[in-house]
Amino acid sequence: MPKFSPESFSKLSTCHQDLQVLFYEVIKYIDCSILEGYRNEVDQEEAFSKGTTKLHWPHGKHNNNPSLAVDVAPYPINFNDEKRSIWFGGYVLGIAQKLKDEGKMAHSVRWGGSWDGLGKLDKADQLNDFNHFELII
Ligand SMILES: [Zn+2]
Repeated sequence: MPKFSPESFSKLSTCHQDLQVLFYEVIKYIDCSILEGYRNEVDQEEAFSKGTTKLHWPHGKHNNNPSLAVDVAPYPINFNDEKRSIWFGGYVLGIAQKLKDEGKMAHSVRWGGSWDGLGKLDKADQLNDFNHFELII
């Protein structure tokens, strides 16, 4: 069974309990890496200048402490493999729905590849953030 590296473990521990419950379940089935949990002011502004977020500090869900968002990639990481990222996103949403229905998570999850939450993939001109999962709070 896959398990998190110490680095992933440490990043996931900066996240809301629901996100920890979710990804400790996901990793039982799919190896994945936690890229980022909580983001401080310096990190948020750096992400903004790179264009990976549209939000300034402290308006991002990564800026809450504990973090209400987490960035995760299936392992081995290949950011160019869009199909695999989309497959992973759907898989995570399915696990999240099941955990919520079972009362193990308090909140629903929104995925950065389909911001409307209706399963419709975003258009290319929108900010696709396939690694991003956030709690709807
Ligand atoms: Zn994110």
